[in-house]
Amino acid sequence: MSSPKRVIILGSTGSIGTSALKVAHDIPDRMQVVALAANRSVEALVAQVQSTGVKHVAVTDAVAAREARQLLPADVTVFDGAQGLVDLVRAVKADMLLVAIVGTAGLAPALAAVEHGMDLAVASKEILVMAGESVMNAAREHQVNVLPVDSEHNAIFQCLEGHRGKDIRRILLTASGGPFRQWPADQLATVTVAQALKHPTWTMGRKITIDSATLFNKGLEMIEARWLFDVSMSKIEVVVHPQSIVHSMVEFIDQSIIAQLSHSDMCFPIQYAVTWPDRVSNSLKPIDFATLGALTFEAPRTQDFPALDLARHAGETGGTLPAVLNAANEVAVDAFLHGRLSFPAIWQSVERTMAKHQTIAHPTLDQIIEADAWARAVALD
Ligand code: NDP
Repeated sequence: MSSPKRVIILGSTGSIGTSALKVAHDIPDRMQVVALAANRSVEALVAQVQSTGVKHVAVTDAVAAREARQLLPADVTVFDGAQGLVDLVRAVKADMLLVAIVGTAGLAPALAAVEHGMDLAVASKEILVMAGESVMNAAREHQVNVLPVDSEHNAIFQCLEGHRGKDIRRILLTASGGPFRQWPADQLATVTVAQALKHPTWTMGRKITIDSATLFNKGLEMIEARWLFDVSMSKIEVVVHPQSIVHSMVEFIDQSIIAQLSHSDMCFPIQYAVTWPDRVSNSLKPIDFATLGALTFEAPRTQDFPALDLARHAGETGGTLPAVLNAANEVAVDAFLHGRLSFPAIWQSVERTMAKHQTIAHPTLDQIIEADAWARAVALD
């Protein structure tokens, strides 16, 4: 039996972070949490420090970091600010960094972890959309693994095991379709925040839940898949599967399709990212086909939900455009959540920002970061 994998969790107080702590509790022989990071949920973080016994945390928000220092025992080191995430990664001996922060704040610590020879478990798809080429190149250079945590990509990763990339005909990303799958197009302008936050099959953080409703989540996932599996965008398709049981599929050149199935619980992909290449028994709920009912599939409504075509265009164009799409979407989602934009205005604002952008092909990391900042500044103009 190998010793437990030492894992740092960035975003430990969020939806993925708390699922990761459940996994560690379920398979203690295989996963040991060695450091935690959050933005400002101090109370939850302090409770997590008590239950895990970690001696290192990062708290990005300055006020929250001060509070954490007061509440935590003196032998717990608290790093702060955005740089605190990088400092944490450099200070702690670990085998894997789980990046589960919303948005792109996980990029710098992810690159620091790679430089330190840690494997990456990536939930934060935004960092791969923004800088997938840089992250994957760095991982290759430092010979570390990038394990997908997003359920679809974890499924594809499982379907591809033992197969050659050149034998892939299509990657079929499944999408629940979100809460407005069957809404008439002309009613989408009336969508409220509460309605958009009601996901039919998954319980997740607010940003990704809105992304699931607009289908930007699936758009981001198309670009994420392009980098994780080194396939062209033309081989990546989306199929709506409202039950969220088939997490994705790969069709090979002989027209055989392999799919991965499980209940919609993020503990499944998190565990596999941690234990890979091993499979380990756990206490998760098994599928009972006799009671499961029908699994159905349909085409996405790309006309009414333009996010998929926008993401395909960004992915095919490449360069700085995916970072622009991602940043503009983040700003627009935040504005929608604060009542400043209508639901359709999310994709309208992303589309406008992309149209204004002068794409730089083969950008450096600095150029990507500049494009991200530019898009954030102009997204709501
Ligand atoms: P949540 O909103 O539930 O949690 C986000 C976590 O990140 C919290 O711990 C939050 O801390 C922390 N955080 C946010 N910003 C910062 C920052 N600047 N510095 C440090 N910590 C920060 O999000 P989710 O768990 O839903 O999603 C996390 C990522 O995983 C996203 O990229 C999402 O797309 C991806 N993902 C999520 C899935 C899910 O099922 N939830 C499925 C697949 C992918 P605090 O609590 O203090 O605010």
